[in-house]
Amino acid sequence: MTDKPRLHVIEGTPAPDTAQEQVRKRVRATEKPATMIQCHRCGGREVIETKIGVMLKNGKTTGGTKQLICACCFMKGERVVVG
Ligand SMILES: [Zn+2]
Repeated sequence: MTDKPRLHVIEGTPAPDTAQEQVRKRVRATEKPATMIQCHRCGGREVIETKIGVMLKNGKTTGGTKQLICACCFMKGERVVVG
């Protein structure tokens, strides 16, 4: 057994605050344009929203993880998560 190589934190110089870097920051901050969800398996655009792990509390449902699955694939018995 040999010792694992150790990782050291080094003092790095920050990225220069040039005009070019400011443009990059602005581009990174902007939102991505909306894209229509499409199934990667069949190309379908119809989705079903499902929830996993929903809790029932005082007669009301709460929590759970939402998932979008492809409606076309679901009809064929396949569960394809699209978003
Ligand atoms: Zn599909």
